[in-house]
Amino acid sequence: MAAGVTIGLLEVFFRASKPGSAGPTVGSLEHEPLKAAAQATKLRVRLNLIVSRTITDPQGDKHLPYKLELLETMALEGHEQILAVQDAPSGLRAWIAIHALDPQPAFGGIRILNYRSERDALFDALRLSRIMTYKCALAGVRGSGAKTVVISNSITDRPAAIRVLGRHIEGLGGIYRAGPDAGFTSEDQQVLMEETQYIAHFGVDGGMQSAGDATAEGAMHGILRALKLRSELQIEETTVAIQGLGSVGVSLAKRFLELGARVVGADVDSSKIAFAQNLGVTIVPPSKILSTSCDVLVPCAMGGTIHDVSIPRIQASIVAGVANNTLGHDSQAALLKENNITFLPDFALNAGALIEGSHNLHTDENSCPQKLAGIGETIANILQRSDDDKLSTIEAAFALASEKVIATTSH
Ligand code: NAD
Repeated sequence: MAAGVTIGLLEVFFRASKPGSAGPTVGSLEHEPLKAAAQATKLRVRLNLIVSRTITDPQGDKHLPYKLELLETMALEGHEQILAVQDAPSGLRAWIAIHALDPQPAFGGIRILNYRSERDALFDALRLSRIMTYKCALAGVRGSGAKTVVISNSITDRPAAIRVLGRHIEGLGGIYRAGPDAGFTSEDQQVLMEETQYIAHFGVDGGMQSAGDATAEGAMHGILRALKLRSELQIEETTVAIQGLGSVGVSLAKRFLELGARVVGADVDSSKIAFAQNLGVTIVPPSKILSTSCDVLVPCAMGGTIHDVSIPRIQASIVAGVANNTLGHDSQAALLKENNITFLPDFALNAGALIEGSHNLHTDENSCPQKLAGIGETIANILQRSDDDKLSTIEAAFALASEKVIATTSH
């Protein structure tokens, strides 16, 4: 690996890249005082994160420069490395964002979605990779945050595109471990694994495993703990409403049905609806799910569905963030609190796949139910901190995570 990688915030790579090649390194600082300054800056940036989360809205956030100033944008939130990947024959256009290079590896899923612009895709990669660092800290996983975002609308040959992507991931030499995320299919997974060994979340056959079950299992523990702390209801008296009956949503629905809860769900895909209905899920239209009568509302589709307009319509007393970046903006956690709704922060609640992936990496075991159950404890700590310090639950989660990040980087 290039020497400069250890230096931190002031060391930035921007590679427009050949598979497997490190490319040019810009601004390498092999100088002790500069290293110390870099470390201090890094800590300061991370401390600032306790109170600010500026990369949230690619369209309108006033904190962001109007024109894309990549290095400046990276410095805003402490991102250390971004790999821009394009391959004309397959139409691959992707960003691999690595928020922190220490501790390694950086974990992050591959998201393959339509984006209006490469700028939107980049901001998605930046904010999702950053939140992964906090997810690692809260989950007690030794690792940092990363994310791959692929612009699906530019792809002309999907298997070829995934192959090229796999070669780039392999070329990173293991500093990044890729997992599945929205839009990444089992066919993509097969192809990817022919090109790279650096994946997270191995299954029983050594292949990349669907992470939905682990995420659902962890989220279930978090929700059950929140219900115990914030509700008088028995589980059999509880209604859980799930927006999005995909990999995580349907797995969560099964679990709550087995526990005796009533489960209401919505999806935009008729095959997902039919499957869930057979399990016993009561289906409502997608436009009604956020305002449906329930005790726990679980956004489990895309992020950003809980915002100023949807919050007043919510009837649940608990909103359980499973979709990454569930809130349109972090400040909406305070609005939820004002409406007597307890918000369970996504980067605490949906860490099951990360926990299981990291466990797979460090042991040869495929499951770790005890560790997944630990998400219940994390949620309890967040709720306690929120009460003690009069913080929104997002602020409490960031405070807890930032303390852990700083403790790690200070040694
Ligand atoms: P998925 O693609 O399998 O499922 C998402 C489902 O949401 C799909 O069935 C889709 O049709 C549905 N959907 C989309 N728009 C909708 C709408 N407006 N109303 C209702 N349904 C809608 O994805 P997934 O793997 O289940 O992940 C769900 C969310 O959880 C994503 O935000 C993902 O980033 C997050 N997450 C997933 C994991 C994981 O392990 N898969 C881990 C952490 C976070």
